[in-house]
Amino acid sequence: MRSVIPLLLSITLAGFSASLAARPFWHWQDNFSTHDKAELKSWVLRASDGLAALLGPLPFDYHVFFHLSRNAGEPVPWANTMKRGTRDVHFHVDMNYSMSEFEQDWTAPHEITHLVFPYLGDSGRWFAEGIASYFQYQVMYANNIISWEEAIRRYDERFRKARAQGPTNLSIVELSEVVSKTGSYVRMYWGGAAYFMDIDQQLHEKHDLRLHDVISLFMQCCYGNGISSVKQITAKLNKLSNSTVFTDSLQSTVSKKPFPETQVSLSWLAKNPPELKQE
Ligand SMILES: [Zn+2]
Repeated sequence: MRSVIPLLLSITLAGFSASLAARPFWHWQDNFSTHDKAELKSWVLRASDGLAALLGPLPFDYHVFFHLSRNAGEPVPWANTMKRGTRDVHFHVDMNYSMSEFEQDWTAPHEITHLVFPYLGDSGRWFAEGIASYFQYQVMYANNIISWEEAIRRYDERFRKARAQGPTNLSIVELSEVVSKTGSYVRMYWGGAAYFMDIDQQLHEKHDLRLHDVISLFMQCCYGNGISSVKQITAKLNKLSNSTVFTDSLQSTVSKKPFPETQVSLSWLAKNPPELKQE
């Protein structure tokens, strides 16, 4: 009987996962051709599949809204998510760009990652943007859009740009409160990403875990459980990882001025690409 139990369990879990797989609902806010609709759908689904390769099947439905942009200078000049009851993502797209140019853009992987987390308020913007920025290139790697070497090159370029941007007299946590006045979005996004890269390294070296394993657990259990602040989510992630790294790193990276150290963690990350759950 014992040998049967894991089999039954795996069949049950497979059915469970399939029934919980994410379903997108499509909303066309402007006139898109049938051809463009098909291409945009597959662009979003590819990003969603890439995130699922990191985290496992996404256990939530979501709504995708498309808006037309013209002469935008890039394929996706603007995008945002809204999580008030439903999980909604809005993409403003310029259809003069080719689908291969859309694939090279980080916006879809970034926005789909946002859907995994609850809204954490203005003071939690560094956390929300940090995790979406940290995962965006890993999703593109999971999608075979970029190599791991290229992912590391892009991380390095972003961290350099963020560090060079002011203001240097505020920590990333402090910057999160005033970023709409300073406009230092790159610094806030990638300062937050530095926090998650540090955590990923700590989890790997001290706890034989990876960040995406812990986020996967969070995604399964804890969205919508009244978590609405960084304090609450870091406490929950500590518990899920049986560690204190989420609060320890908060003190040692984003709470300090001016910008977190990234060279050591980035060298570690270069040698340790994420393990993919699906190819
Ligand atoms: Zn974002």
